[in-house]
Amino acid sequence: MGTELGNYKAVCSARSTDKDILKRAQDGGIVTQLFTFALEEGFIDGAIVSGPGEEPWRPRPFVAMCKEDLLKARGTKYNLSPNVSFIKEATRSFGLDKIGIVGTPCQMQAIRKGQLYPMGLRDVDDKIALAIGIFCMENFSYQSIVQLVEDHAGQKMESVKKMEIGKGKFWIYTDRGAVVQLPLKVTHKYEQPGCHVCLDYVANLADISTGSVGSPDGWSTVFARSTSGQTLWDKAVAAGCFEMKPIEQVKPGLELVSKLANEKINKNRKTLEERASFGVGKGLRSPYI
Ligand code: FAD
Ligand code: SF4
Repeated sequence: MGTELGNYKAVCSARSTDKDILKRAQDGGIVTQLFTFALEEGFIDGAIVSGPGEEPWRPRPFVAMCKEDLLKARGTKYNLSPNVSFIKEATRSFGLDKIGIVGTPCQMQAIRKGQLYPMGLRDVDDKIALAIGIFCMENFSYQSIVQLVEDHAGQKMESVKKMEIGKGKFWIYTDRGAVVQLPLKVTHKYEQPGCHVCLDYVANLADISTGSVGSPDGWSTVFARSTSGQTLWDKAVAAGCFEMKPIEQVKPGLELVSKLANEKINKNRKTLEERASFGVGKGLRSPYI
């Protein structure tokens, strides 16, 4: 595989063995299970996650200090959750020395940049113990999600149980059992413009990154990227936290992850070049591709 998948030490398909976690997890419950294990083992002393906010499906970053807190944050919210901006709060108000944090690829980049040039993150850069990245093709503003759900899908935000992008569609599942699918050509125009110049699909800079793509329904593809990420993953597997399959034995497998990563990179590179041709973002380089 090429650079589109970033550096990694191991990759597999996995899902949590904990039924409570799986019940409302987005995919294989990897994020919630890993943070739960990391908390229990003292690998982290709290995790910054995207919990419920004041409006339905508008995430609010908060510090989870136990499994019950982590369970409240399960599931993907398709709009911005400013988890990185909560790092200072996590050290100051919650007194965390070993922080866990989940985020999109761009948020993983912000964390690593903050560690290298800790201007805004002074005194906290060495406190990131576990950064879990989630795959990401695109994201939306909250207003856009409301429009997609209420205007295009005809559903109330508060009745939505789960949202998901997969198999070329945006899926909306409600508490009363309705399933609405929107073609991506409808959702594309609602995407954040910044996502159209983003060159990372699989959170290359995370300790561990995960997403649904590549694995069967209810399972996740998991990359262990850093040495500490690999150590934690191995310990969690040995403790029975995950069922695991070699990625070569599942369908659609790594080939699809590579294909989508390449599609994102190539499409967005074109946008970057177009913008550079009229002087915007000239000289922009991805640090890792
Ligand atoms: P769970 O155990 O259910 O936990 C999910 C965790 O994600 C929670 O801790 C929660 O705090 C956190 N979270 C939820 N929403 C956000 C958010 N907006 N920002 C930061 N953290 C959040 N996967 C793919 O395979 N392909 C994609 O194209 C893809 N696109 C995505 C786009 C977005 C905007 C997001 C947020 C996620 C995307 N994912 C994609 C990842 C996927 O939807 C799941 O989040 C991932 O597989 C983790 O599932 P899980 O069952 O392990 O997590
Ligand atoms: Fe961030 Fe890129 Fe995902 Fe947009 S597509 S939310 S910029 S990681």
